[in-house]
Amino acid sequence: MSAAAPGPGCTRTPVLRERGQHEVFCGLTSIIWLHRKMQDAFFLVVGSRTCAHLLQSAAGVMIFAEPRFGTAILEESDLAGLTDSHDALDAEVARLLARRPDIRQLFLVGSCPSEVIKLDLARAAERLSALHGPHVQVINYSGSGIETTFTQGEDTCLAALAPTLPEAGDTPGLVIAGALPDVVEDQMLRLLSDLGIEDVGLLPGRTRDNRPPLGPNTRFALTQPFLGETHGALIRRGAQPIAAPMPFGADGTTEWLWAIAREFGVPRDRFEAVTDAPRKRAERAIAARADDLAGRSVFFFPDSQLELPLARFLTRECGMRAVEIGTPYLHRAILAPDLAALAPGPRLAEGQDVERQLDRARAARADLTVCGLGLANPLEAEGLVTKWAIELVFTPVHFYEQAGDLAELFARPLRRKVRLRFEAAS
Ligand code: SF4
Repeated sequence: MSAAAPGPGCTRTPVLRERGQHEVFCGLTSIIWLHRKMQDAFFLVVGSRTCAHLLQSAAGVMIFAEPRFGTAILEESDLAGLTDSHDALDAEVARLLARRPDIRQLFLVGSCPSEVIKLDLARAAERLSALHGPHVQVINYSGSGIETTFTQGEDTCLAALAPTLPEAGDTPGLVIAGALPDVVEDQMLRLLSDLGIEDVGLLPGRTRDNRPPLGPNTRFALTQPFLGETHGALIRRGAQPIAAPMPFGADGTTEWLWAIAREFGVPRDRFEAVTDAPRKRAERAIAARADDLAGRSVFFFPDSQLELPLARFLTRECGMRAVEIGTPYLHRAILAPDLAALAPGPRLAEGQDVERQLDRARAARADLTVCGLGLANPLEAEGLVTKWAIELVFTPVHFYEQAGDLAELFARPLRRKVRLRFEAAS
């Protein structure tokens, strides 16, 4: 039962630092999964028509329910009068809250147009909280495209929630940070409960009343590697991080659970009894895709920040070979366990310089290239097989029961390529 490589894995591998042109979605994208997670929240983007279009086209149209996100559009002319902009925002919020009494937490989400940057949304959130509290709490964070990756939207949102969490008492507690689909979260809670770890706090909670308490006796674990700011914000509140590989695959999930179990004094035999059956199921599910993956090479463009843990999964658990692993940020405090377990050999790159990286991807011609949507089609046209990185964030991929699906996400494009070749040849 170990995801750990013998030796330091890629811990000492030199990292190529890239500071060039980026090709990524902006942080507003994360509203698409956050608004489904927080049932009494509303995400009000303060932005431009471009922001509204991005949200609408990415999230689709909701027919059966009132949406829990929207855009307050600021026009260029609003630049002339910032006071007017604040008044207009206040009026928009008042209208929204009068119509939607179910909203208990309202997020004012900043964007990157210059007219928005000039607005002090932190002050607006304070003012609006005073006006509409205690029923509604208004919190602001940035989903701006000036940041370098779309998953930062969730990170800045959860980091903004950290100061609002209630103070915990002296009893040791556990908080799990990272938005997961409800069904996956329930599986995780069941596993922790079987280990004897109850009353687990979740960040984000499903409602405002479910925000987890936090204090010096709270330990926390991340389920997503992109929560760097949240990690810092929770530590500033006195909570202690539990270092673990991300819970992807059979080994990743086992190591993640064991890191928590150890902290909470769960005996090894109980741990084995709880994890043995689901771990074996996960290993079998991964093995069923082994023929498609083993021995194949993979190249990661920096996009979702999931790249390093996924490369760990693909190299250690699926027998693939990583050529290059690009990541927008390499947060060592969070990624150290995944780095240590990563099979040696790949080039590691932090940041992006898309042209140079394209050159390297073309030279490498890996069996599979994981990249953003914008790069996938041109690379496919050049004969490379690609996987959209964003799909890995939108698909349930964490923990034992999803391990086979995670392997399948990488196996499918490789099978498609073989089929296409076969059909072309026949
Ligand atoms: S925040 Fe910036 S990058 Fe994102 S949709 Fe709005 S204008 Fe575009």
